[in-house]
Amino acid sequence: MKTWFATGILLLSTGCASVHDNKPPHWTYEGAEGPEHWGELADAYKACATGKNQSPVNLDNQHAVAAKLPPLQLAYGAGGYEELNNGHTIQVNYQPGGSLTLDGHRYGLKQFHFHAPSENQIDGKTYPLEAHLVHADQDNNLAVIAIMFTESAQDNPNLEPFWSQMPTHPDEKTALMPLVDVAKLLPAKRDYYRFSGSLTTPPCSEGVVWLVMKQPVNASKTQIEKFTQIMGHPNNRPIQPVNARPLLK
Ligand SMILES: [Zn+2]
Repeated sequence: MKTWFATGILLLSTGCASVHDNKPPHWTYEGAEGPEHWGELADAYKACATGKNQSPVNLDNQHAVAAKLPPLQLAYGAGGYEELNNGHTIQVNYQPGGSLTLDGHRYGLKQFHFHAPSENQIDGKTYPLEAHLVHADQDNNLAVIAIMFTESAQDNPNLEPFWSQMPTHPDEKTALMPLVDVAKLLPAKRDYYRFSGSLTTPPCSEGVVWLVMKQPVNASKTQIEKFTQIMGHPNNRPIQPVNARPLLK
């Protein structure tokens, strides 16, 4: 996932500054500033190297713990008003209003964005595309819903309202009108995995509730290629060790 809390989002994700000013240092998905080095780029990024509850993970059904997870309580509506290319992902920012209620606790939807190929895996399988729906509660605790995409012959019409306007260059953004409803991206069946993880980008902060939908949705090869071509590089962090964490299914 992309960001840690709502107000830090744009500054964090578009800033590419040196260690010597107060902005977070630049990072990438390959080379000297790639995932293997994130923890060394700044003190603030240390969790990327030393954290024990990092994301993404492989959701292995053999080791996942059967739990009676309750149906997700989602209330979204059309609120995606802006589409941003921040150089690390394509992100749709959401107006206040959409929410996830979890353990009786309300998390507001802040934004959703994409990774290609997927970051999380299910039974060792990597998907060509993964969406992250980022929510924060009033104390900026985060909950992320992940949706996997499989490749289909047909375009996914629910991507088109914003896929067709995807900003092609870093720091470019597009206003979305009509507003986009992320609920249309959800799979019909909403069973999910749950585990405690982290941001998948620096600063790799932990304490993030992860909810990964078991059922994938579709995107065509053309749609997937449009994203990967605009990004110009894979934007997935490698799989992280599960360590002592329970993965609930
Ligand atoms: Zn993400």
